[in-house]
Amino acid sequence: MKEHKNQKILVVGSSNTDMVIKTDHLPRIGETVLGGTFFMNPGGKGANQAVAIARLGGQITFICKTGNDVFGQQSHQLFQEEGINISYVFSDTERPSGVALITVDANGENCIVVASGANAHLTPKNIATAEEAIDESDFVLMQLEIPIETVEFVAKKAAEKNKKVILNPAPVCPLSKELLQNLYAITPNETETELMTGIKITDECSAKKAAERIVESGVDNVVITLGSKGAFVYGKGICKMVPAFKVQAQDTTAAGDIFNGALVVALAENRSMLDAVRFACKAAAISVTRTGAQSSAPYRNEVDVF
Ligand code: ADP
Repeated sequence: MKEHKNQKILVVGSSNTDMVIKTDHLPRIGETVLGGTFFMNPGGKGANQAVAIARLGGQITFICKTGNDVFGQQSHQLFQEEGINISYVFSDTERPSGVALITVDANGENCIVVASGANAHLTPKNIATAEEAIDESDFVLMQLEIPIETVEFVAKKAAEKNKKVILNPAPVCPLSKELLQNLYAITPNETETELMTGIKITDECSAKKAAERIVESGVDNVVITLGSKGAFVYGKGICKMVPAFKVQAQDTTAAGDIFNGALVVALAENRSMLDAVRFACKAAAISVTRTGAQSSAPYRNEVDVF
């Protein structure tokens, strides 16, 4: 079966440790709140997507930068346990690993502070020393939690080497024409699509208009994720709404990350874009029935029987 002739995937992105405390109410300035339970979860969009890929059976190499501290060491160990190739993971001796401090109140409202730490120092120079990782890959998946110069550099190198580059533009920022021209696909959610195009996504017609605009700037395929409505796919010969699978959602954290990981796994199995989006909708639907980010990423057999 084609499933087992996987092409290789490279993710270049962020790795964070999320530290979460649940409290009755969020603290005001100067206030100390005695909180409840404390959780520490691995996170960062890059790491979430890499873990999703590994669990779905993708051959995955991950490039990120952590600090040379307990959080970094813990992340490296977790990546290895998931079966991710970490030969090109950088360890920064001067800066700490990325962390997110999250407070969640009784109503589920939250306050988040992120210290990107080493993630903000994953530089084009670092990538130049890991160029083999690009050579060895067929697909390159990135997000925007690392410096934009690094994303641009990887996209350029990878496109020159005829690799297929997919960008999940989150958190969104202005993207250069050159970067867009180097992309095989882009996967914004509704908000990111609106920020990129100025078009508010209210229905299939507005999604098509926005996708057309993005394609005009040089990207081959656009996949707009629409939460519980599913995803809209637009590209050469495709213009289709793929409905979401109906599930009882518990926690939609990282749904987009699981979606992106699954999308590239299916593409690496030579499936069509449309088929890959269906597979991604399945994997993401399973993930929203569970809590957490990486912990909600489904394994391959779960998606196959879903
Ligand atoms: P992000 O997390 O980046 O904002 P979305 O909210 O658009 O991304 O979700 C990504 C994908 O996850 C959607 O395209 C859909 O396939 C799936 N998804 C999200 N929420 C639900 C839901 N409530 N029920 C089923 N699938 C969902």
